[in-house]
Amino acid sequence: MTNCVFCNIIARKIPAEILYENDDAISILDINPIHYGHSLVIPKRHCKDFLELTPESFAGVMAVTQAVSSAIVRSLNLEGFNIFSNNGAIAGQSVFHFHIHITPRYKDDNIKFVLELKRYNESEIIHYANRIRRHLAEPVSPTMKESNP
Ligand code: 5GP
Ligand code: ZN
Repeated sequence: MTNCVFCNIIARKIPAEILYENDDAISILDINPIHYGHSLVIPKRHCKDFLELTPESFAGVMAVTQAVSSAIVRSLNLEGFNIFSNNGAIAGQSVFHFHIHITPRYKDDNIKFVLELKRYNESEIIHYANRIRRHLAEPVSPTMKESNP
């Protein structure tokens, strides 16, 4: 996609610090890191989000994610890291070409989701499990309620 920043990085039209690539995916340093070394893994074929990722790309994306995570852990001597992906504007996605974040973590680095955890009662947990299980018989659908670019 011509107006997609990650497609332009993959096409070498926009500069980026490329760490690694295979046939299906590329990894670059995030330009605004949570911690130095924060990296992104991006499928080479444009897809908007995780639900649009093809099974063929998935394997290559995960191989790059594991290789780069391992290199970050060893090079920065880490005790831990996060991998995550924002899908949909409401979930914090700002670039609508799917990507996985790899972020180094440090003791007392004060990075946390501020969460108010809920509890299920017995009927609610069964209700939600059944609601999700019913849809697992269907093929993966790229449709989300929220309209994202
Ligand atoms: P999202 O908010 O969609 O989960 O993550 C998008 C990420 O892409 C952000 O962390 C942002 O800093 C990074 N980003 C956006 N534009 C560029 C760019 O031109 N180059 C690089 N290297 N990273 C970018
Ligand atoms: Zn793209």
